[in-house]
Amino acid sequence: MRTLVECRARIAHHRACPRASKSTRRAVRAASAARRAPAPAVDDDNVCDVAIVGAGPGGLAAALALQRQGLDVRVFEQREEFRPAGVAIFIWPHGLNALKSFDPETTERVVDAGAVIDTIAIEQLQPGGTEAEELVRIDVAGWSRRMDLPPQIGITWARLTNALRAGLRPDTVRLAHRLACIYDDDDGVALGPSSGGVTLTFEPPRNGGDAPPPVRARMCVVGADGRNSRVRELTFGEEDASSSAAASSPASSAAAPEANVYYALSPNPPPGANGAGSFNELRFSLCDGSGISLLDVGRGNLDIDGGDSPGGDSPGGGQLMFGTTRFSEPARTFDTPERRLAHLESLFENTTPLLKAAIASTSPAAVVQTRLYERDGASRWSKGRVTLLGDAAHCMYPSLGLGISTAFQDAVELANCLSSDGSLGLGNPNSDVREALATYERRRIPPCWALQTGSRLMHRVLAATSERAPAGGERGTGGGERGGSGRRSEP
Ligand SMILES: Cc1cc2nc3c(=O)[nH]c(=O)nc-3n(C[C@H](O)[C@H](O)[C@H](O)COP(=O)(O)OP(=O)(O)OC[C@H]3O[C@@H](n4cnc5c(N)ncnc54)[C@H](O)[C@@H]3O)c2cc1C
Repeated sequence: MRTLVECRARIAHHRACPRASKSTRRAVRAASAARRAPAPAVDDDNVCDVAIVGAGPGGLAAALALQRQGLDVRVFEQREEFRPAGVAIFIWPHGLNALKSFDPETTERVVDAGAVIDTIAIEQLQPGGTEAEELVRIDVAGWSRRMDLPPQIGITWARLTNALRAGLRPDTVRLAHRLACIYDDDDGVALGPSSGGVTLTFEPPRNGGDAPPPVRARMCVVGADGRNSRVRELTFGEEDASSSAAASSPASSAAAPEANVYYALSPNPPPGANGAGSFNELRFSLCDGSGISLLDVGRGNLDIDGGDSPGGDSPGGGQLMFGTTRFSEPARTFDTPERRLAHLESLFENTTPLLKAAIASTSPAAVVQTRLYERDGASRWSKGRVTLLGDAAHCMYPSLGLGISTAFQDAVELANCLSSDGSLGLGNPNSDVREALATYERRRIPPCWALQTGSRLMHRVLAATSERAPAGGERGTGGGERGGSGRRSEP
């Protein structure tokens, strides 16, 4: 069944284009019928100020920012539990600084849960060569110190989201709430028992049972539901040209080659690696059609063992994330985890001792495989009292590792805009909140467009560089982890 918001988008399209398709005309008829149906009734217990859809890093950060403003915020997440899924990411100092601006305590918890990254090194491994050539070395620790910013960190996905959740009020996050429909009551179309605000309904659980009860947000709804955002689809429908492209083709808008990404965690330092103690580095190597990352993600074995205590400390040694992007590799599937690991081993049989040690200490079950993707940024983020945040608005290639830092900056701006009149827009929810969300959109779209474009360009450069590398045969045999002719660069 089409939702009201979806139908309205189709009607707008129909009006702008008199030769609209049969399916659009059907949608217009469906919308006319839907107009007669009021938004579902909502119990008082299920009314809040702001409803956020999606409990990824963006949604959780937005919830923290808005709760610190004194708002009643709830986060609705489709997953039924927080699994230790995803492996490792790095977060830039300016991203953590955004988080710190509204929640220093949570920022400290996030830093403690990861590893501080002192340097970023980029090196080239020459097939058949004897050592890696270091192309760039960035003293990110010195830069952060001079700018009085938090450090750059590497952190596992589970520990990041646990640390963010630990800063929220109890019961903020509601699991097993997969968004179905949105009724924005402000336009007078869906006025009913729940009039005033935006009503959300949810899908029944996949394994049967009743759908969770509907929820009403007095102020606004924030769509932080990632790349294939349902909020974006429902709110902007056919106005959003990239809706269907994103769902079908991960790299469609950039016409980039297909790429597979493999991730795993291994002990830090990996057995056999030179040196001891913490790695404290993000090392990116270009080698024979691949980009290989080694990222210190700090202590603990929380993710592999499935532990899930919010913000909890974890015993054991540190960990190193080993990841590789195979540019130009068609989508691959493997019968068993062992075969996937064997594929990785075959790719890196001749490489630096550190890389070899990392892969040798990796258990087959720890390897995660994913694809690279992006999506054109939304040309509009806000409509009525519904807005977008994070990947839902600006999903970008991870070539510059900017997705989470940018989502944290969205959260800061959203909270600033909603509080700009001093009354959080609650005094006049039908006009002030809409204006605040329009301002948020105006302030965020230009910088996010620039960051997406930069990430896309970097992705293309990396893919082109790897395409020029010789295929097959002997691969890089770099001898030292640090290389000899490195050029230092400080941003
Ligand atoms: C291989 C790879 C490596 C990356 N590395 C980095 C890195 O090093 N640094 C970095 O900053 N970024 C990195 N990124 C990007 C980063 O992962 C994203 O930018 C970030 O996750 C965006 O956060 P988000 O909260 O906006 O969305 P997401 O993390 O996608 O979270 C969205 C949430 O919404 C939920 N959801 C979806 N639909 C619904 C629905 N209908 N109802 C309810 N809930 C729903 C999902 O279950 C999910 O929990 C990487 C991405 C990839 C693919």
